[in-house]
Amino acid sequence: MVKENLEEVKSRMSAACKRAGRNPEEVTLIAVSKTKPSAMISEAYSAGVRDFGENKVQELCEKHLALPEDIRWHMIGHLQRNKVKQVIDKAVLIHSVDSVRLAVQIEEEAARKSLVADILLEVNVAEEDSKYGFKLEGTESAIREIASLPHVRIKGLMTIAPFVENSEENRPVFKKLRQFYVDMQSKNIDNVNMNMLSMGMTGDYEVAIEEGATLVRVGTGIFGTRYYMNT
Ligand SMILES: *Cc1c(COP(=O)(O)O)cnc(C)c1O
Repeated sequence: MVKENLEEVKSRMSAACKRAGRNPEEVTLIAVSKTKPSAMISEAYSAGVRDFGENKVQELCEKHLALPEDIRWHMIGHLQRNKVKQVIDKAVLIHSVDSVRLAVQIEEEAARKSLVADILLEVNVAEEDSKYGFKLEGTESAIREIASLPHVRIKGLMTIAPFVENSEENRPVFKKLRQFYVDMQSKNIDNVNMNMLSMGMTGDYEVAIEEGATLVRVGTGIFGTRYYMNT
């Protein structure tokens, strides 16, 4: 099932690239494997997927330990400062940096391990109360502050668009973030080299690609519905 779903997602991604006149190689699929067992991840791995997304530090660390070393783990969920230490050398990219304080914590842990952490700033474009992230108007000053941290590298921006019935409703959200991203690129801020735009999930990744996403985060569309257990 995973293999068939992947083929479907990939062909939809190619079609979206074609519509937008983009090269499909510009867009990376991140298979969001949160709550899903290793067996399903292995299935996707066998089909060639190397980028996986998790939203919980503990789960990411456990899977990192158990699964092949060449998997690129993406931290996509809200990150608490006291958990940075555990995830810093396991995630290739932290998509969900939503405060300067968190970036400072990442700086400290990265410096301690003598590495440079690649991050995206999460932007709450639609300003939903239920979501984390910088407001668009506060993002430039955050970028400028975080850019001064030597062990943190801002690679781009991420957003989680609202839950909508019709993905077209999110087009303006993606367009707005893309415009801001291009604007930031043109400002040539020292130590900032933005070339990643993480936007689009199962319900709206095609629209996100049409609007310039370079990373799409697809869970349900690959692994099926998630069931959460009450523990
Ligand atoms: C769970 C999750 C996804 C994937 O959601 P689907 O709708 O299942 O594709 C993408 N991004 C983030 C940040 C998530 O937490």
